[in-house]
Amino acid sequence: MSDTKNPGDKTISVERKTLGLKRSGGDQGTVRQSFSHGRSKAVVVEKKKRRVVVPGQEPKADQSAPAAKRPDEAAEAPRAKPAAEAPQAARRGVQRPKGGNVLRTLTKEEAEARAAALKMAQVREVEERKQAEEDAKRRAEEEARRKVEEEARRKVEEEERKQREEEEARLAAEKAADEARAAAEKPAEAPAQPAAAAPEAAKPGEARPARTERPAGARPAREEEEGGDDDRSKGGLRAVKRQKPAPTPARTRGGDDRRRSKLTISAATGGSDEQRSRSLASLRRRREKEKRGSQQVVREKIMREVILPEAITIQELANRMAERAVDVIKLLMKQGQMMKINDVIDADTAELIAVEMGHTVKRVSEADVEEGLFSAEDAPENMKPRPPVVTIMGHVDHGKTSLLDAIRNSKVVTGEAGGITQHIGAYQVEQDGNKITFIDTPGHAAFSQMRARGAKSTDIVILVVAADDGVMPQTKEAIAHAKAADAPIIVAINKIDKVGADPNRVRTELLQDEIVVESMGGDVIDVEVSALKGTNLDKLLEMILLQSEVLELKANPDRKAEGIVVEAQLDRGRGPVATVLVQKGTLRPGDILVAGAEWGRVRAMLDEDGNQVPEAGPSKPVEVLGFQGTPEAGDMVAVVENEARAREIVDYRQRQIREKASVLASGARGSLEQMMNRLQETGKKEFPLVLKGDVQGSVEAISHALNELGTDEVAARILLAGVGGITESDVTLATASKAPIIGFNVRANKQAREAAAREGIEIRYYNIIYDLVDDIKAAMSGLLSPERRETFLGNAEIKEIFHISKVGKVAGCLVTEGVVERGANVRLIRDDVVIHEGQLGTLKRFKDEVKSVESGQECGMNFVNYQDMRPGDIIECFRVEEIARTL
Ligand code: GDP
Ligand code: MG
Repeated sequence: MSDTKNPGDKTISVERKTLGLKRSGGDQGTVRQSFSHGRSKAVVVEKKKRRVVVPGQEPKADQSAPAAKRPDEAAEAPRAKPAAEAPQAARRGVQRPKGGNVLRTLTKEEAEARAAALKMAQVREVEERKQAEEDAKRRAEEEARRKVEEEARRKVEEEERKQREEEEARLAAEKAADEARAAAEKPAEAPAQPAAAAPEAAKPGEARPARTERPAGARPAREEEEGGDDDRSKGGLRAVKRQKPAPTPARTRGGDDRRRSKLTISAATGGSDEQRSRSLASLRRRREKEKRGSQQVVREKIMREVILPEAITIQELANRMAERAVDVIKLLMKQGQMMKINDVIDADTAELIAVEMGHTVKRVSEADVEEGLFSAEDAPENMKPRPPVVTIMGHVDHGKTSLLDAIRNSKVVTGEAGGITQHIGAYQVEQDGNKITFIDTPGHAAFSQMRARGAKSTDIVILVVAADDGVMPQTKEAIAHAKAADAPIIVAINKIDKVGADPNRVRTELLQDEIVVESMGGDVIDVEVSALKGTNLDKLLEMILLQSEVLELKANPDRKAEGIVVEAQLDRGRGPVATVLVQKGTLRPGDILVAGAEWGRVRAMLDEDGNQVPEAGPSKPVEVLGFQGTPEAGDMVAVVENEARAREIVDYRQRQIREKASVLASGARGSLEQMMNRLQETGKKEFPLVLKGDVQGSVEAISHALNELGTDEVAARILLAGVGGITESDVTLATASKAPIIGFNVRANKQAREAAAREGIEIRYYNIIYDLVDDIKAAMSGLLSPERRETFLGNAEIKEIFHISKVGKVAGCLVTEGVVERGANVRLIRDDVVIHEGQLGTLKRFKDEVKSVESGQECGMNFVNYQDMRPGDIIECFRVEEIARTL
């Protein structure tokens, strides 16, 4: 502050008047200093008269300075007391002779004071030198230590270096001050020396000249200014005062306030050992923390054996390794895979990660989940006779449903929409006290697939062949299925009541398929029946029972149930309903079932007449209520011990389905180009569809029918064939392929309707398969290559060819006939021969691009990708219309 103004005139002592500059004279005043935040303090201002030092005279006040500048030391160290007294004596010495302002000789007191001061100065000098040496040593040590410091400290080091430089600059300045002081000592010994003419410089330990010399000296003052803090500013000022006799500790403390966390200051200045070690320790802690941050995984790791299924979510993998999912994701990211916590990764990837993280891996097939789901064979002693399961197969309209109806005396046919069997019905009838289970597979060709499934659960196949129609394609198919299922066949020659019925023709035709009936010398039972008239039905049933006796059909009813889903549907009131054919064991309400990718707890079981049944043993078909979702026809059913197991299995299966779907989806995406190439090569087009139906059977029937619609030119591609209402996800799927959605006996929910409207996806509802198929047929014909119909627009004659840079050749033409339109197709005709056919590039009239040019007008034309035009050529302009064809 003021010490920068005129060092010779004023000195500021703050508050504590321990500096001992107080005089009895009236030169003293108090100045009130205001600081920020309303703080203020009183400052004592003393004015010193400038003394003129005459050669030979001794500068009096100089003795006062060292002691005065070291108030702390004076107070702290008793040995400094004489020095502290010295200034007073000196001052007295100065002030006493008021009349003569210069003293010629030293008084005894003064001499003593000076001697004491000198001694002090010498002691101080020695101390300082020692300190400087120590500093240097410490710095060297520090430097050595710093060399082994790591990357993390480099930044700190840089600052440190800066500090050091400053420090060195300061030290250099101090040295200069020391030298000055040393120089000043000499005149002190020989007072009359002219060097003492500069009293300021001569003052031993006097900081002022040094301070003005070095820029660093301004710092404490700066600190005082910026720091409103009383203590700090005090400290700062104290530091200023102390700097002269003991500069280094002063600096330490001054800087310590600001850079407490930094090792640098104390290291550079050699602050108290305690301080230094503390900051080092903190630094070490910090470094350790950093290290720990990166190596935490390794440090706290517990090696685990991680059980890896075929697919696992990142979350689950992390859980099994007891790692953070974030770390797993990071690892994946390093490998260039951006994954989310719920993403599924395959076992190979998971193993890589687990090994990388230091765990061991045990790969298990997830299919293990299903282990024991279907238990091993039952012991022969537990086996009991069971009713035969009979499937009726045959060509469409040969009378399968009629036959079953006749047997059951029910009228299912009349209740069916469109007259087509749309469900697999499963019923049990009794004949002579023996039960027979019938499964009616729908007869339409589209139901082949389902029929194939149906055969799996079948003991005996009734092959229905209409006596008036004979063996038909689906009859042959049915035979193939039956044979594949190793099921014995009983031929029911139906419609024998009909005029023109020829049972023997049927028998003969069956020979082609190696079905040799008994009357033809074979072992296949055949029965002539009339479903309509009810003829020979008993005989048929008897034959079935006879056949089943031969088969010795047995099952263990005393075990957990297993079976097959014959059909399943989503019932409005009852939720998912599955017709389950029990094959082993006994099913009871309360049992927990797994069927395909669905599970449920049996809420109720109903027989074919809608009556609740308390249990269902082998070969018993029952409608099961209580599934969580709708299983699919053909799904195997098993009872499991508890819900957890059911969920586990279902989770696994659903995941598999999803994976399969995603593989299919990605495959489809990948093959899109291939498909387009194929389209161009073969001209084959695909008609994508999303199909939802109320019952698995219907869906399969429709799928099959639609697949059969395909021709060489266009084919239906069913993206999804599912049971249940149309949902938003169905719309999403359809949107992706711009496919219409077909709802068979189902409707779209609100969200799906809205989504479809938003995306422009058409949803069509049907309740009759034939209508659906016909409509699709019509729609598909819209995709057939349309017929090209050409419309002549006009002719133009080329008069001149212009070469225009960048554009190329442009023909200057005169439209001779009709009109020439931009964007039209053009032919270049030379001598009545078409030499080029293509698109019109530009059409210009003078300099402007125009839409059309009429007959009699001139224009400029060029072709897209064609240049070879000559004057005299005719350009024929035409449009092509495409007319949709039907199949
Ligand atoms: P499915 O398609 O094999 O199930 O055949 P259906 O049971 O629906 O019968 C097709 C048609 O044949 C129906 O119109 C029946 O009335 C008729 N039909 C079935 N069995 C006989 C029969 O024994 N005699 C005569 N005359 N018609 C029959
Ligand atoms: Mg039928």
